[in-house]
Amino acid sequence: AAKDQGGDRFCLFEPQMYQNVVGRVEIENEMREAFNNDELFFALQPQIEISTGKLVGFEALVRWIHPVKGFIPPDKFIPVLENSENMVQLGYWGLKRAFSILNQLEKLGYPNQRIAVNLSAIQLLDPGLVPFLREQIRDSGKDGSQIELEITERTLVADIDHTLDIMKTLRSMGFSFSIDDFGTGYSSLAYLKQMPVDIIKIDRSFIAGMTTNRADMQIVSSTIAMVQQLGMKVVAEGVETTAQMRMLADMNCEIAQGYLISKPLLEQDLYQQIDHKLQNGLWEEARLIREE
Ligand code: C2E
Ligand code: MG
Ligand code: MG
Ligand code: MG
Repeated sequence: AAKDQGGDRFCLFEPQMYQNVVGRVEIENEMREAFNNDELFFALQPQIEISTGKLVGFEALVRWIHPVKGFIPPDKFIPVLENSENMVQLGYWGLKRAFSILNQLEKLGYPNQRIAVNLSAIQLLDPGLVPFLREQIRDSGKDGSQIELEITERTLVADIDHTLDIMKTLRSMGFSFSIDDFGTGYSSLAYLKQMPVDIIKIDRSFIAGMTTNRADMQIVSSTIAMVQQLGMKVVAEGVETTAQMRMLADMNCEIAQGYLISKPLLEQDLYQQIDHKLQNGLWEEARLIREE
């Protein structure tokens, strides 16, 4: 903005900065309302096993439908709330919903489904988390084995000893862990070796490039090989084309998630569509490709 107004490059306070501050306070206040007024929803995105095309689970992605502003994507409010009390609350909201969705799927005739929930560092490190999840387990009659907790490399390196303790406790309750957006953060292979992690999710940016960019292709293929040798599974994120899916199948990648299979579906839409989708094999794109 300073440049637009005639070249004073050294202006320290730009209107944009003011807007950012206002935007932040506004989002924090409105998020409080969002919890009270049920403006938050989960959208669920199917994940499939590439070799068989079978549904293996869903990732839960938060959606905020504001009464005036309409749909606000998570990239607009998660980074703003990161480290705030709202974020801790959002974590509990999400985990509670995940248990309730598992119950609902069971009622519809789909027991033993798996849901992956994104947890940021402040949510994982909150002292209330373990007792909260113990209570959810008691109330729902389920253990943690149907819930996967997605954390990022940034969470891993933040407070390693404490994080490790919490992860071990949650694993003993049945929960599993995945590393989200793998390859974009700062974790070293040394962390990976000592972390009780079950699944690595290769970031969408590498998948997007893998059929046209040799480096992306090599990164994806060597990550898959390394992760499997360490005894973990791989999920490819953001699979959009059959060419990507075919290449991932050739690389023996286990699981895929992305628009090619399905966009994230709002909870109610999932309940309405799940019979139709599963009975007609509509999430089984990968298997069809292998048979070509
Ligand atoms: P993420 O966990 O890496 O989630 C994947 C994102 O990629 C989602 O965006 C999803 O809609 C999008 N995506 C999936 N398949 C494709 C594809 O084939 N192509 C493209 N272009 N995009 C695809 P979304 O829902 O906007 O979420 C963005 C990020 O917000 C998430 O990234 C996650 O970091 C964060 N987030 C979402 N929900 C929650 C939540 O409940 N709690 C926390 N802590 N973070 C969340
Ligand atoms: Mg995720
Ligand atoms: Mg991801
Ligand atoms: Mg991502």
